[in-house]
Amino acid sequence: MHCPFCKATDTKVIDSRLVAEGEQVRRRRECLACNERYTTFEIAELVMPRVVKQDGSRQPFDEQKLRAGILRSLEKRPVSIEEIESAINRIKSTLRSTGERELKSMMVGEAVMTELRRLDEVAYVRFASVYRSFQDLEEFKAEIDRISSQNQDDCEVVDG
Ligand SMILES: [Zn+2]
Repeated sequence: MHCPFCKATDTKVIDSRLVAEGEQVRRRRECLACNERYTTFEIAELVMPRVVKQDGSRQPFDEQKLRAGILRSLEKRPVSIEEIESAINRIKSTLRSTGERELKSMMVGEAVMTELRRLDEVAYVRFASVYRSFQDLEEFKAEIDRISSQNQDDCEVVDG
């Protein structure tokens, strides 16, 4: 790239390190023409698969929409922004690792539910009840029962 000071193209990398959990490379560069130093950040450009909705229409993967849905489910829940962001990153890499150029919207929903289940059971049920019309009410009830019995177990541990 051009030196931001004198626009020369000859630069020397004087330091290079991984940042943001290895997802970015930060480089210190020195311009060989004017000797000014500056920093660049490099991020791999990763293409997300397109999403095929139930009616057959295609949409580009929308990370903002995904984040909004997850944040709505996690409203007032004790989950940090860092945990949410790494969940979103895991969802994206799960979807990319399929190697498919198009994915059914259901697969995106399932990937979100897998992560929410790990993060917070309440958020998981909130999201699932909105996103996936549970096959039947029995399945939904079984899920609620499973969660409430888990909570009872937790209480027993605390009491003991
Ligand atoms: Zn320069």
